[in-house]
Amino acid sequence: MHHSTQEVVSTSKTEIKVSGISGKGTFAKVKINPGEYIFTLWGELVQSDPNVDHLCTQYGVSGDDPLQVGDAQFVICNHESKTINHSCNPNTGLRNTSDLYAIREINPGEEITYDYSTTSGVNDVWTMSCGCGSEACRKIIGNALTIPPIIIAKYANLDVIPDFIRQQLRQAQLVL
Ligand SMILES: [Zn+2]
Repeated sequence: MHHSTQEVVSTSKTEIKVSGISGKGTFAKVKINPGEYIFTLWGELVQSDPNVDHLCTQYGVSGDDPLQVGDAQFVICNHESKTINHSCNPNTGLRNTSDLYAIREINPGEEITYDYSTTSGVNDVWTMSCGCGSEACRKIIGNALTIPPIIIAKYANLDVIPDFIRQQLRQAQLVL
């Protein structure tokens, strides 16, 4: 079977290698500057309620893999998109729907990470244990409401909260 969305394994700025965090990860091939666009996470767009168990069964993916891009919309990510690990102290974040942007300087060879909680809607019951190793590690990560307020403010300033999450947080009066 030829699925082009499954076969993207590197981009002009990144490549996939074994990760120190978990399994395989995505690494910078070149120096990436703060605020620089890296690539857009994508794959197959599907409608689903926040319980993605049936999606995982249907598509044979892990529960951490479907990327939420709307209140009831998920992307079954292509290989490049699902290979980015979470960190509680990430060097990138997602803007607009799922555009990946650097939030600090990233050196060649450095693993690229974003905060998975920024893509988990406020009604999601999803959790994941975290061993990212950062000083600020939250250990158990959950939906966007579980991000500490000071970190949400930082992400808002850097414009790395996806639109649908920002809308949900606005409704909860947690960001402007
Ligand atoms: Zn962590």
